[in-house]
Amino acid sequence: MPNLNFSCVSCGKCCHDLRLPLTWHEATDWLARKGTVELLCEALPWLEEPDPSNLQAQHKRRRSFPTMSGNLPVRVIVVLTAVYTGACPNLDADFRCSIYEIRPHVCRIYPAEINPFIALSPANKLCPPEAWASQVPLMRGDTIADDEIRLHVAQSRRDDEREAVSKQALCALLGIGSAGLGGEGFAVHAPPADQLLEALRVGIQDVDLENFPSWTILSNQASTIKALTSAGAGAHLTSNTSSGLSRYIGFRADASDV
Ligand code: SF4
Ligand code: SF4
Repeated sequence: MPNLNFSCVSCGKCCHDLRLPLTWHEATDWLARKGTVELLCEALPWLEEPDPSNLQAQHKRRRSFPTMSGNLPVRVIVVLTAVYTGACPNLDADFRCSIYEIRPHVCRIYPAEINPFIALSPANKLCPPEAWASQVPLMRGDTIADDEIRLHVAQSRRDDEREAVSKQALCALLGIGSAGLGGEGFAVHAPPADQLLEALRVGIQDVDLENFPSWTILSNQASTIKALTSAGAGAHLTSNTSSGLSRYIGFRADASDV
């Protein structure tokens, strides 16, 4: 990857119309401030353990919990996300962050990437050209050159991995049991804010995972549903226009014919 320099020019674009991945504690605080938090769920068929040299698969493994979809072993990744349209509820009238000292990791990391397998590309970021014209090093090859950002990325990854199994209990407690197929889309769950806040604060002890039904994999591709069903998974055809407390975001247009 080429070297990149960067200085934030405080344009505020990254504080608008976004979905921010949050840690458990950040999501709790976000809800306590009356923000909106949703859960993004994706399922990965997991027939055998990956080779230790497969770093990407090992990364997904650490971020997920093992479970079943019908007769198919899967691992499920759950991401807590803050969601807002227009300005972030924490952005004040002067375009300043009103929770600057306690803003989420992801706000401190942007525009760097948390996922070690995604290369930072200015073209995919909201920052204007003048921000990239800086002389301050951000990336030197694949390494984040800014010490503070590097620490926040490391902490964010550690939290993500540490919280993976707790999220299984969180989903069980909230009756959440559907996920998109990894790489194709996400199931998006928006439980009532008070229930989610309560569950995040206190509720995941003594959750009976044994009696929780297996996960359903959602897709808007009929061919995917056919393949999953023949592999023994519990799968359900959905569409990008689904709505309600649980809905679907697919990366491709709906295809209801095989
Ligand atoms: S929390 Fe602050 S830094 Fe993060 S998106 Fe909102 S206003 Fe921007
Ligand atoms: S979009 Fe980039 S330059 Fe603009 S405020 Fe966010 S980090 Fe700074």
